[in-house]
Amino acid sequence: MVLIFLLILAFLAMGILAELERGEEQAPADAGTCPCCGQQVEGQWLLCPRCQAQVTAVCPDCGQSVASFHRYCPHCGRQRGALREA
Ligand SMILES: [Zn+2]
Ligand SMILES: [Zn+2]
Repeated sequence: MVLIFLLILAFLAMGILAELERGEEQAPADAGTCPCCGQQVEGQWLLCPRCQAQVTAVCPDCGQSVASFHRYCPHCGRQRGALREA
């Protein structure tokens, strides 16, 4: 009886571990927070899904879209403070 209990416990632990690994894989590498509401947003998103705030701007130097939480343009290195809103 104890053995069965331990087996179930082991299966549960393995399931939790698998879940954790999946969660880490799914976590976006390029993510930040919405400047408006704090919702987590991914770098390639255009709008915050929570408050619809625009989370990307256009770099005036290279014209590429840059996420609002980026401090520097990842395409040309221009400092983010100098970016205008798209
Ligand atoms: Zn938001
Ligand atoms: Zn740029």
